[in-house]
Amino acid sequence: MWMRAEGGALEPVVFDWLLRGFFVLAVVVFALLLLITVPYGRHNEKRRPGWGPQIGSLLGWLLMEIPASVVPVYFLCIGARRDAVLWVFFAIWQVHYFNRAFVFPFRRRGGAETMPLVISLSGLLFNGLNAYLNWRFLTTLGPIYSLSWLGDPRFVVGLAIFLLGFGINQHADWVLFNLRAPGEAGYKIPYGGLYRLVSCPNYLGELLEWIGWAVLTYSLPGLAFAGWTFANLVPRALSHHRDYHRRFVDYPADRRAILPFLL
Ligand code: NDP
Repeated sequence: MWMRAEGGALEPVVFDWLLRGFFVLAVVVFALLLLITVPYGRHNEKRRPGWGPQIGSLLGWLLMEIPASVVPVYFLCIGARRDAVLWVFFAIWQVHYFNRAFVFPFRRRGGAETMPLVISLSGLLFNGLNAYLNWRFLTTLGPIYSLSWLGDPRFVVGLAIFLLGFGINQHADWVLFNLRAPGEAGYKIPYGGLYRLVSCPNYLGELLEWIGWAVLTYSLPGLAFAGWTFANLVPRALSHHRDYHRRFVDYPADRRAILPFLL
């Protein structure tokens, strides 16, 4: 299967502590986000006071998401390995992050024109650290994956979950983008696909993607990332769900927030 690679003197120790901290912080952030709705998008329509200076939404998204696409390139360049499985992992990661960093921000239409700078900077910090943990692990500090890993059931099942999640996320975002005509703002009720079951299938898809990533890399940094995605997106889906019910008296009553039939 795979063997443990050698690491440098200090970095593996620092890495282990960072990873532990990352897991703990995900739990703390989850608890906080159940209490505080972060003011961007629909929750920042009226520029909620108390969150400091604002930044344009487009710039804010680019600042948050570009590091997630670029940092892995850096670690691939300086890393100890260039084996084929790494390139497969890289392609999977970029399927998501190239879109999120360089395509998604330009497809958004209307809505809140700004977001708090602090939100954008926290996103940048999270994405930078998360990319470091995942990609330093894969390129240098973690095990070496032999070519046979691509036939391992964990890789195959993880990839299937990732691709399912990516498809759900893309379709859900596409439905949202088409709700607004160019220049239009405001919110409408989305229909079709998994919107029949949940208010935020884009978040459900994203969650599946990173659960799939955790399984296909079978790694602790991957698991931490999936945990963070849950911690970020479940509270936000609950906020969106409440917001839909506030805005629309005829909102479909049997829709859940993010997990079909459950939550
Ligand atoms: P939202 O669902 O809040 O919004 C997505 C886009 O659709 C925005 O442009 C939004 O406009 C618009 N939109 C949403 N609902 C409606 C509606 N009912 N009517 C009209 N337009 C609507 O998603 P986020 O902006 O929070 O996230 C975007 C992507 O980023 C998602 O795919 C998500 O999975 C991912 N993400 C991942 C995170 C992670 O931890 N991995 C964290 C956060 C996001 P507006 O901005 O004006 O509301």
